Amino acid sequence: MLTAGQVLQLIREGSCRTRKELIEFTGLSRSTITERVDRLIEAGYIHESGVASSGGGRPPSVLDVDSTRHLVLVADLGASHARAALTDLAARPLAEEYTEMRIELGPDRVMSWVRQAFQRLLDRTGRDKTQVRGIGLDLPGSVDHTSGRVIRSFLMPGWDDHPIKDAVREMFDAPALEAVPILVENDAKAMALGEWWARWRETRSLLLVKVSTGIGAGIVLDGRIYRGVDEAAGNIGHVRLRETDDRVCTCGSRGCVASLASGNAIATDLGQESSRDVVRLVQAGDPTAIARVQEAGRTLGVVLATAVSLLNPGVLVLAGDMAETREHYLTGIRESVYRRSLPYTTRNLEIATSALGERSGIVGTAVMVMEHVLAPETVDAELARSA
Ligand SMILES: [Zn+2]
Repeated sequence: MLTAGQVLQLIREGSCRTRKELIEFTGLSRSTITERVDRLIEAGYIHESGVASSGGGRPPSVLDVDSTRHLVLVADLGASHARAALTDLAARPLAEEYTEMRIELGPDRVMSWVRQAFQRLLDRTGRDKTQVRGIGLDLPGSVDHTSGRVIRSFLMPGWDDHPIKDAVREMFDAPALEAVPILVENDAKAMALGEWWARWRETRSLLLVKVSTGIGAGIVLDGRIYRGVDEAAGNIGHVRLRETDDRVCTCGSRGCVASLASGNAIATDLGQESSRDVVRLVQAGDPTAIARVQEAGRTLGVVLATAVSLLNPGVLVLAGDMAETREHYLTGIRESVYRRSLPYTTRNLEIATSALGERSGIVGTAVMVMEHVLAPETVDAELARSA
């Protein structure tokens, strides 16, 4: 027997638009469908909008997802920035905040900003936290998606094993809100979902590589983030390309692709502080910086050629600071990927820079939470809880 959550799913995916279509599609009785639909309307998940054309008689009203009643709070934490947003259940931002903040400040200070930003976003829009159905965060490290703990990050000293979910939940002191799901995700994985959602929804497989201070990757397969058995999928920055090298990588090894081709590595070679400085040099037309950036793109492209050959993605997206180098980094990637892969595996491959720029993480996190909140099992649990 179909649950209310599954009925919502049929409406969301466009399989059924009216009560009559639901009855025909599911084979359930009129009274059962009416009960499911009424509960979904009452709980604010769907509403009736307009009328469908029909073959005579009274035209039936169209059932549509109501994205406006429920809210999502999300935060995107980078090495040197933090962004927070309040969105509706279609991942549309209602309000957003941004600040430059180093994640090295540690979890207490950063999470305190997140909690305060969430409250300000609610205040600014005149919304109440009882309307919040899901919360999400993405950050530049490996996370255990289930427990919401940071497994390991070379950029985030002091965050290891930090209970991020508890830190967020502190602001929701009302017992009735303890059930609000809180999802924590790695930034490159969230960015991959954001880019897929914004521009590449017709492709079944997307690979995103983020090159800023470090290097990370995210994979979206059939509209879902692919995490791997240890949530370690996408950790390509520490693939070792050389057995020996003068430099020690942030991971402690030598010869990692990150220590050769990351924004940090390029900055060091050019006598600069950070990957942002590299972007500024390239945008100013500095020939040495441009040559170094293209070379780094070719180096990372060697690893990406392997990834492309394994996955056969429809699109490879370059995101992070190096996406802003006027395509120079991208050009290097293109050269290596096409030269080192079979034409057959790259025939339908598009290689592009990020469409959302610095907003891909926050959009992807909002989409991830929205999909979770609207999943049949979450909807049924919420209906049972609020009954
Ligand atoms: Zn390394």
